[in-house]
Parts: sequence; structure tokens; C-alpha cells
Amino acid sequence: MPQYLIEVVHTPEECLRALDAVMLAGAHMLTNSHWGCKDGVHDAWIILEVENDTEARRVVPPAFRHQARVVRLNKFTPEEIRAMHPKG
Ligand SMILES: [Zn+2]
Repeated sequence: MPQYLIEVVHTPEECLRALDAVMLAGAHMLTNSHWGCKDGVHDAWIILEVENDTEARRVVPPAFRHQARVVRLNKFTPEEIRAMHPKG
């Protein structure tokens, strides 16, 4: 299954509400969430394996869905990177 990054940017005022929303969304969501809050960066990055974009957006707590950024992640192998350079 593809891996998605869900970014939930929030203000310091929204922080506790964001934490509550992610906690209530389930243990799986909370376990896979990474927060910048204690370093003063009020972003949550949630990495999940889901079927598609729609599914990724669906798991975001409704209150934060409109401000969530959903990105499908990929990895590159050294071979792929080397192949991207122009030949010659
Ligand atoms: Zn925060």
C-alpha cells in the first residue's frame, strides 16, 4: 500500500484541539504522528499506509481536514537517481 504523509499545520491556540482530535481518531493515528509543538513548530506529520489520496484525507479528523496537506511518499534508489542525470 502506498505511504502518505498527512501534514496538519495548526496554531499554538489550536494545539490541544489538534492533539485531542488525533488521539480520538485512534491509537494508530497517534502512534504514527510526529509533532513539532515542543520545539515551537505547530505541525503534525502523520505517516500512514492507505489506499489512496481520498482515504488519506478521510482519516484526518474532520475539524482539521481543510488545513491538512496530503502527500503520497516515494523512495528513490541510488540507481534511479543516477539514471535521472543526463547522459554524456
Ligand atoms: Zn501544536
